Amino acid sequence: MLNDDDLNRYARQVIIPNFDEEGQERLLNTNCLIVGAGGLGCPVALYASAAGFGHIEIYDQDIVEISNLNRQIAHKNNHIGNSKAENLVQECLKINPNISITSKKILFDESIDVSNFDLIFDCCDNSETKYILNFLSHKCKKILISGSAVQMEGQLAIWKSGLNKNYPCYECIFPRTNEKAPITNCREAGIIGPVTGLIGSMQVNEAIKEIAFKNYQSTAGNLFLYDGLTLNLDKIKLIKNNQCPVCSD
Ligand SMILES: [Zn+2]
Repeated sequence: MLNDDDLNRYARQVIIPNFDEEGQERLLNTNCLIVGAGGLGCPVALYASAAGFGHIEIYDQDIVEISNLNRQIAHKNNHIGNSKAENLVQECLKINPNISITSKKILFDESIDVSNFDLIFDCCDNSETKYILNFLSHKCKKILISGSAVQMEGQLAIWKSGLNKNYPCYECIFPRTNEKAPITNCREAGIIGPVTGLIGSMQVNEAIKEIAFKNYQSTAGNLFLYDGLTLNLDKIKLIKNNQCPVCSD
């Protein structure tokens, strides 16, 4: 049962058809992992906290630098030198002090137990962590909501291969390769803040649907591509790789 404070705080979302008070209760009972407290992790954590995802854990080993501030919207000028994960937790609590939210100031790696999480947000900017998150999410049957952004382009996908064997996983679509990968990190290739803000917002939008909504069509199995130069948003249906080392039987 929602208390009076919850009913007021979440009033504008529980009136949406298919959301309802039961949807809000499910959000409040959801345990989220957010990997990355940067350009994507900031909007993801802020919107997830505001929406009332009740339990959140944020991983990031970095400290706030001045060059982060064009996009990492929770971090302010007076936060330079602070832990990103801890700072993001404090900013989320300013919006919603009623949730339980914690920081881990370490690099996320394959030794971390994800079995207690219901939902995992991939907000990291390196491919090795993305492969680890994909492997753990598949193995432990979790929903993985993955975002990436570079220069003026962003990508979004919902991966549920562990929950439904017909869905592809991240590694089906982006297989590991020995070839040198193109530069896709913000430090070397550049990024503008609205692109990370848009993709992060979309990640939480998909999470709210997956957890709170009754009668909705999951967008898992699709890749969304946003081009900020042309304003095109494409949705591509993905095909599972039956030889995938992660998700094929
Ligand atoms: Zn796969």
